[in-house]
Amino acid sequence: MCAAALLWTLAIRPGTAQTPPAGAAAPGPAAESNFPVASDARLAGDAKQTRFILDLDKPIQFRAFALADPYRVVLDLPQVNFELAAGTGVTGRGLIKTFRYGLVMPGGSRIVLDLAGPAKIAKSYVLDAANGQPPRLVLELEAVDRTAFVQSLARESRPELRPGIAVTNVAARAATPVAVTQTVQAAPDARPVIVIDPGHGGVDNGTQAGGDVMEKNLVLGFGLALRDRIEQSGKYRVVMTRTDDTFVPLSDRVKIARSESAALFVSIHADALKRGEGDAQGATIYTLSDKASDAEAERLADAENKSDAIGGVNLTDEPTEVADILIELVQRETKTFSNRFARVLMGEMKNTARMHKHPLKSAGFRVLKAPDVPSVLVELGYVSNKGDLEHLVSESWRNKTVGSMAQAIDTFFAKRPATAGPGK
Ligand SMILES: [Zn+2]
Repeated sequence: MCAAALLWTLAIRPGTAQTPPAGAAAPGPAAESNFPVASDARLAGDAKQTRFILDLDKPIQFRAFALADPYRVVLDLPQVNFELAAGTGVTGRGLIKTFRYGLVMPGGSRIVLDLAGPAKIAKSYVLDAANGQPPRLVLELEAVDRTAFVQSLARESRPELRPGIAVTNVAARAATPVAVTQTVQAAPDARPVIVIDPGHGGVDNGTQAGGDVMEKNLVLGFGLALRDRIEQSGKYRVVMTRTDDTFVPLSDRVKIARSESAALFVSIHADALKRGEGDAQGATIYTLSDKASDAEAERLADAENKSDAIGGVNLTDEPTEVADILIELVQRETKTFSNRFARVLMGEMKNTARMHKHPLKSAGFRVLKAPDVPSVLVELGYVSNKGDLEHLVSESWRNKTVGSMAQAIDTFFAKRPATAGPGK
């Protein structure tokens, strides 16, 4: 399992346009793995009965289950190379509004179907190749009313819903300290831990600019560059919540920060406004608050908090927040540090990056909710704004901005009293 996690490579790029023509013998990265290849996905039927069909190069096993609020069907598959045409899943048919696909963990892929209303999985099966047709995964949905839908959820012996990627990561790290520190039996690493959290990933593309520019790819590239820059000084240990195109639930991102006793958590995103919502520009730094600082911050937090629903995580399984006086005290201190870092970061970023006209905001971001880890969420800019997008895809802009963030981190830790942060 660990070996598989370590050997996992960047062989697949779900949803990108760089896919070979469907049905062609696929050269390039995909050929280097033995993962099953999905070459086409299509919908058939109407608003009463809708069928989802996925063409494969070999039969696979899978499981499918439904989720409510919003209505979704999730298909968990072994790791699959999706070589589907760009735009696949954007338009729906019948009961299926849209669908997404991507990696959820090393060895595991997922397809999430967004439903137009309650539906039950009438049949699901894999057909062997026959009559010139490739092996196919078929899922048949039937419209039901909400009561029947909810009853069918209760009857199901629910499989493990959580993709478990973070659990795998944490376990892998715990089991292989050698890989992290290189020195066996050395003194424990006392350097502050910085967790860098590139938003979205896998089935969750994040915001999208007109072409093929996806937030999940932009912020991953930025996050990895930031990691490399911060690690150069040797003063910090950096942990990434993801290093490839994998979906990680929001709560698992928070869990990584807490289990690492992180001294700082930085979530990286890029925003977008819909057409007709104006043309905002520049970077914004967000901290956690119960009440959003303005309507735009609230809209953004709602959008970012949808990540789990997009990725097919059952939100009702999330534990409710613990109200505890001790946690509140820690939270107050954490909040002070979060705000302080946000201000330092703004002071540095404004030298290199174009900032939003109100660059410091707050709202109820679920990913910022570790009670004991100072956390900020940075929206690097708007992919919907032409000038911002030029920056976001430019390597020189990225280098400059990564540099200013690294400087802010140095300043923050230089001024931090010894008692600051989780300080265990
Ligand atoms: Zn985002």
